[in-house]
Amino acid sequence: MSNPPRLLTRRPLIQSVAARWRQQYYRSGAWGGYTGDARLIYEKLSALNLDSATRQEVDDIIGNSSWTVIQCGGCQRDVEVAAEVGELPDWESATVILCAECIALAGKVVRAVARPLRKSIKRC
Ligand SMILES: [Zn+2]
Repeated sequence: MSNPPRLLTRRPLIQSVAARWRQQYYRSGAWGGYTGDARLIYEKLSALNLDSATRQEVDDIIGNSSWTVIQCGGCQRDVEVAAEVGELPDWESATVILCAECIALAGKVVRAVARPLRKSIKRC
């Protein structure tokens, strides 16, 4: 099965944060799996206008930036736009997030080898 690259940008992450939070910590009719008050955080996230809320507002409610970060798996930078490549993200999935610069660099690495191969194929 093919997994085409998926675009990652900050706004959809923010827009989906309350739903993702609920999906993570609300199971079988109860809040759990979190050391703090997961229900209170969900209520605060739900009270935000997620179409206009800033990343900082979300991070302040949660207490860290892990729910709004787009971290490139190549350069490790927190970027605004990236591509998610590989399996759909799940526990232990083979998924990587890459920024445009790291994608370009990966392309360069592959092309450096692929170009001579293509020429040798044409000569045959
Ligand atoms: Zn990168």
